[in-house]
Amino acid sequence: MSVSRYMLYFSPDLINEPITYRMVKDFDLMINILRAEIDDTGGRLIISFEGSPSQIKSALKYLTDNKVQIQELNEYVRKDAEKCTDCGACISICPVSAFVVEKPSWKIVFLSDKCIACGMCMDACPTGAMKQG
Ligand code: SF4
Ligand code: SF4
Repeated sequence: MSVSRYMLYFSPDLINEPITYRMVKDFDLMINILRAEIDDTGGRLIISFEGSPSQIKSALKYLTDNKVQIQELNEYVRKDAEKCTDCGACISICPVSAFVVEKPSWKIVFLSDKCIACGMCMDACPTGAMKQG
């Protein structure tokens, strides 16, 4: 079993499709919806899949066949170490504690596997070190 996290983009015509139901019923995946947004431009779903690699692969094929765009979540946000001044402003703003202070260096470490791509650190970072990947 493995867990993979993705950002799924839906066009407006797919919003009423029972995509998450199919992930469970047809591909026997355990799913966890981390965040969902829908507006008139379409939908954005941040989701984790737990299942065997072949189940996840089949589910991803089903999604792409149905014109859902997929991005691996750990590719969504990245930290530019050159720009980071270790000010710590991102620590308190991140809703999932994806930043930790490394001691004794007091460097700020970004734990990308926790990130749910809310984008708040990108707005809050004074040096523009947090970027869309
Ligand atoms: S807010 Fe930006 S500069 Fe400050 S620690 Fe976080 S990533 Fe680094
Ligand atoms: S995008 Fe959101 S969840 Fe991800 S590290 Fe930044 S503040 Fe945390």
